[in-house]
Amino acid sequence: MIAFIDLAAQQARLKPQIDAAIARVLAHGAYVMGPEVRELESRLADFCGARLALSCANGTDALALPLMAWEIGPGDAVFCPSFTFTATAEVIPWSGATPVFVDILPDTYNIDPDHLEAAIDQIKADGRLRPAAVIAVDLFGQPADYPRLSEICRRHGLKLIADSAQGFGGTLDGRHPIAWADVATTSFFPAKPLGCYGDGGAVLTHDATLWERMDSLRIHGKATASDTQGADFRHDAKYLNARIGMNSRLDTLQAAILLEKLTVFENEIVQRQGVARRYGEGLEGFCLSVPGVIESGRSTWAQYVIEHANRDGLAAHLKTLGIPSAAYYPVPMHRQAPYAAFPRGPGGLPVSDAKAEVVLALPMHAYLTADLQDQIIEAVCGFNG
Ligand SMILES: *Cc1c(COP(=O)(O)O)cnc(C)c1O
Repeated sequence: MIAFIDLAAQQARLKPQIDAAIARVLAHGAYVMGPEVRELESRLADFCGARLALSCANGTDALALPLMAWEIGPGDAVFCPSFTFTATAEVIPWSGATPVFVDILPDTYNIDPDHLEAAIDQIKADGRLRPAAVIAVDLFGQPADYPRLSEICRRHGLKLIADSAQGFGGTLDGRHPIAWADVATTSFFPAKPLGCYGDGGAVLTHDATLWERMDSLRIHGKATASDTQGADFRHDAKYLNARIGMNSRLDTLQAAILLEKLTVFENEIVQRQGVARRYGEGLEGFCLSVPGVIESGRSTWAQYVIEHANRDGLAAHLKTLGIPSAAYYPVPMHRQAPYAAFPRGPGGLPVSDAKAEVVLALPMHAYLTADLQDQIIEAVCGFNG
């Protein structure tokens, strides 16, 4: 059986370094908020040109923390694509705000700026909700159209979040999404391009005040330096609660593992470009159209997604040959029962509905060999159903 994502191959490459990093944490014993956590935050910020990074427990909390810090809540509309992983939309009702679903572009699967603008106008005209923020998603690894999205958000006074859980490391014109967005978030779930050995996440921002507020929120709303300024509190500031927060810290062990993985991450992204190119050469013109990438964009290729009218037939055919595949995502968020009543942009979401029927992700990771890839390409092209 071919691996869908081969985490063992990556581990083999880094085993001695990761073992040593884990041993160092066991030796110093600072399992929560240990020195590796701060070190990782500083390296993550450097990696993508952000002023600051804040680690947290997972990529879902990474989306919730800025919404909480901005006090987005009841009466606010937060716009996001429907064709995404659940977490993107899930955090919006957590805050009491209302998700408004926007359609995607057919070639990149990312949020359609024209439909976003139409949805903002519709919500404004309706008058019941106040447009507050946009969560764009870097689906399958490629950046959304941030130059256009940031211009729309600026014009309408909205915050812009880049959900880069799949696209951390992806760029536009050589720049990371945080060059345009107010915050960019990522997930370190093991299968993501930069994953740890459990759950983890991070928020990137240039805004020091926002960082401080999110640092408070991830540790139960502990008082920050600004909160205690001038206050007469002679105990540990973490026992003075300045806001209602949560517990969302990244384990020191995971930070130590990520520090090692980060040393090869750029090289892995380059290797992923080669794998994607080989798929493209093998599939395009022989059997299928291949995924497009936004002009001057670099995808991390979190997923390599093809389209087929008989998607489920193709998946079954591949399975008989020992090749795993996955339908991301078979039911868009606006068709999921708990989300079905939330508003959608004008005209509904025809592209999201259509794509959900035909997309299929093939095995994709930095260590996919040419031989295995040829087997996969042959198997895809050999399907005539
Ligand atoms: C994985 C993912 C998340 C959530 O990350 P977790 O670490 O699993 O909480 C959010 N958004 C997108 C687009 C994702 O793919």
